[in-house]
Amino acid sequence: MSNTPPPGVPTDIKHYINGEFVDSVSGETFEVLNPSTNEVYAKAASGDKADIDLAVAAATEAFEHGPWPRMVPRARARILNKIADAVEAQDQHLAQIEAWDTGLPITQAKGQAQRAAENFRFFADLIVAQHDNAFKVPGRQANYVNRKPIGVAGLITPWNTPFMLESWKLAPSIASGCTVVLKPAEFTPASAQLWATIFEEAGLPKGVFNLVNGLGETAGDSLVKHPDVPLISFTGESRTGQIIFGNCAEHLKGMSMELGGKSPAVVFADADMDAAIDSTLFGVFSLNGERCTAGSRLLVERSIYDEFIEKYAERARNIKVGDVFDPKTEVGALVHPEHYEKVTSYLEIGKEEGRLLAGGGRPEGAPEAGNWVAPTVFADVKPDARIFQEEIFGPVVAITPFDSAEEALELANNTRYGLAAYVWTSNLQRGLNFAQDVEAGMVWLNSHNVRDLRSPFGGVKASGLGHEGGYRSIDFYTDQQAVHITLGDVHTARFGTN
Ligand code: NAD
Repeated sequence: MSNTPPPGVPTDIKHYINGEFVDSVSGETFEVLNPSTNEVYAKAASGDKADIDLAVAAATEAFEHGPWPRMVPRARARILNKIADAVEAQDQHLAQIEAWDTGLPITQAKGQAQRAAENFRFFADLIVAQHDNAFKVPGRQANYVNRKPIGVAGLITPWNTPFMLESWKLAPSIASGCTVVLKPAEFTPASAQLWATIFEEAGLPKGVFNLVNGLGETAGDSLVKHPDVPLISFTGESRTGQIIFGNCAEHLKGMSMELGGKSPAVVFADADMDAAIDSTLFGVFSLNGERCTAGSRLLVERSIYDEFIEKYAERARNIKVGDVFDPKTEVGALVHPEHYEKVTSYLEIGKEEGRLLAGGGRPEGAPEAGNWVAPTVFADVKPDARIFQEEIFGPVVAITPFDSAEEALELANNTRYGLAAYVWTSNLQRGLNFAQDVEAGMVWLNSHNVRDLRSPFGGVKASGLGHEGGYRSIDFYTDQQAVHITLGDVHTARFGTN
């Protein structure tokens, strides 16, 4: 595979502070790898407290004295729509950067760019439609809600589908009138550079968007602890979420946490088997299995178990793994050698804990370099197995049989996580009862990950705290101040009268 990036992939990755691309104050950089070869193709500015201080100062100035928080929603929405148009117009270019930098297959990377544009369009509409209650109460009194952007939002994002997940935080925070400091994941910093030029060209005022690259323990930690950042929106591992939670608590900050998952996909015997196979395969193997909502625990009713797993494994063996720029590729390269080590260690654990039906190592004919893993299927996995309980975050599925709806539910809930759940059945009542009882923030019935952007997004248990999505995102990035007014003579509260 070539180590020459396609045209337009940034190789000298900078911070973006107060409308300028800049190096780190320290001059430090870190290396960025191409997952298809693991060769270094770029260097990125490595930020620490000094860079975060500059970025937060710029965002604070733009918040306190700049036009953005003071603009009427319609004026902000016009700029958000221009941003959406620019993202959409560049979807091919963005897809090339993401495929190169993250190892995602090009067709799936293009879909992520389109989703990012959609997020901006959606929050542009929402901020205009947003209204709060203003009401008259009995007597000469009226109330209204004064919705105010909270200030400088700290946005910390992971390496899977980085551009799209950044848009999921940037669009609502900026729509709400906040100014922001984004700290993207260190494995995949390339595409975030594009935000700076897209925002500038769309007319977003200087200082509203700031970007600091760097490691979590330095740049990320400084952002979380900065006294002028009143809220943190974080997406990443549950363990990192716990650390950030502790730091936010110490500084009494608002926070939203989108964390890890080990989601169950339950297939009952009365399900449309072909649709369930197609969809559950896609659910765990698309995006290289690096998907927070992956249905990576597949629970199948025993009466169809043998037939199901045979067909499923056959399909998994035929998934096309390889060149991320080939439009026929379905699974690309895992993001980074460190992550590859983690995923492949689970392949060895899985061989002890389950029956290997497909994959289990590098795909046949894979190049020597690069993070290639064949789609891997383990059957007969027991609920106490590590591959049943731990998030692998790669193209690996653990399949377990069940005998009754009660057992399916018990197995589904037998995890510390609670992000998503999928249920396949033609019995609507059974599906809805399962949705009612399963411990998951989101449930899909006979479908996979198709969602209206107005719905809440988030997990329960170790998968998250707080839900974003639709108005919930706007609520998160704004304060809702209640104002109570007297309409009559000045009313003085007195002891003995109230
Ligand atoms: P990670 O937790 O290692 O890193 C996420 C981000 O946090 C990175 O930008 C990192 O630099 C930063 N960070 C790390 N330590 C920090 C600290 N002490 N203080 C501040 N910032 C810190 O996660 P990852 O490996 O990049 O991403 C994969 C994880 O993200 C998986 O667990 C996946 O399930 C989860 N995820 C969840 C969702 C969701 O919506 N629930 C979506 C995507 C990914």
